[in-house]
Amino acid sequence: MKNLEILNLVRENIKTLKPYSSARSEFSGLDKELIFLDANENPFENSINRYPDSYQFQLKSKLSNLKEISIENIFLGNGSDEIIDLIIRAFCEPKSDRIITLPPTYGMYDVLAKINDVENVKVLLDREFQIDTFEILEKMSKQTKLIFICSPNNPTGNLMDKEDVKFVLENFNGLVIIDEAYIDFSMSDSWIKEIDNYTNLIVLQTFSKAYGMAGIRLGVCYSNKQIIEILNKIKPPYNINQLSQNKAIDVLENLDKIKKQLIDIKISREILLQELKTLKFVKKIYPSDSNFVLIKVDDANKRYKQLIDNRVVVRNRNTEPLCTNCLRITIGTGIEMEKLVRIFKEMEI
Ligand SMILES: *Cc1c(COP(=O)(O)O)cnc(C)c1O
Repeated sequence: MKNLEILNLVRENIKTLKPYSSARSEFSGLDKELIFLDANENPFENSINRYPDSYQFQLKSKLSNLKEISIENIFLGNGSDEIIDLIIRAFCEPKSDRIITLPPTYGMYDVLAKINDVENVKVLLDREFQIDTFEILEKMSKQTKLIFICSPNNPTGNLMDKEDVKFVLENFNGLVIIDEAYIDFSMSDSWIKEIDNYTNLIVLQTFSKAYGMAGIRLGVCYSNKQIIEILNKIKPPYNINQLSQNKAIDVLENLDKIKKQLIDIKISREILLQELKTLKFVKKIYPSDSNFVLIKVDDANKRYKQLIDNRVVVRNRNTEPLCTNCLRITIGTGIEMEKLVRIFKEMEI
């Protein structure tokens, strides 16, 4: 259990901010009988001539049912990246506050911290790519407002140990953001269920990976009501466009299709893992709870170029800490994986 006073963590200028009140948030457009002359829109109907619902009620209702969580605990962003940016902006005073990230991990935490002029204190994962809780205790200070934990982690692919995450939640007097972009590829439960137990917990998910909707840019944030209210206060009024809201609702109404795709992806992942074991230039295969596999090879730059010559693009993570000579391979279709394995076998010769 953790009970932090969230308002004490908010930046002073955000605390006192009076948010922009948009026409559509003052009077939402669900009732078709009303005559809307308040937002200077073109009145001729084409299904998107009106501004979208600022608070995405219909879409959040679907998510609320699916995740068994109240609408008040959901915030939507133009990709998770927008949400991460808003969290940093709401809680971190530029030039004085800090965040902690756990490399090797998702690169956007660092970029968004830099854009906001907030120092990113890096605490490397340990040899097993797990959290170094002792080092986090050492590195945190009064100025540390946020800790980002990515689980399953990108680019390493593994879940973070639950007890370590709990330790951070319990011992850190700031917000803990658990990025679950890849949770649907794992067998683990989401941390969403713990939101009532830890007032400092924020869970991020996305439509970009398992849901197959990277193109609509939709990230989801689950947290307590207070934190959601702060994010609502500072978000751009119409940050989720109408087309994205419609598409997201479509996918949530057809989740059977996604579930079948997830089974396919997991099968392809297991086949690829087996095949990788037979390759001599592959020195290490890291276990994966996600839709990608991290491997250590003899020479990452050389193997990366060979793959490009064979018209296959993977992610070269060679320069990331603890990832020397590592390549990250996304799981594609069965046919794409067969082609990849054939190319790998030719590269052996
Ligand atoms: C891909 C990814 C995301 C998704 O970001 P979006 O902006 O929602 O597309 C978030 N976190 C991690 C760790 C990722 O790898």
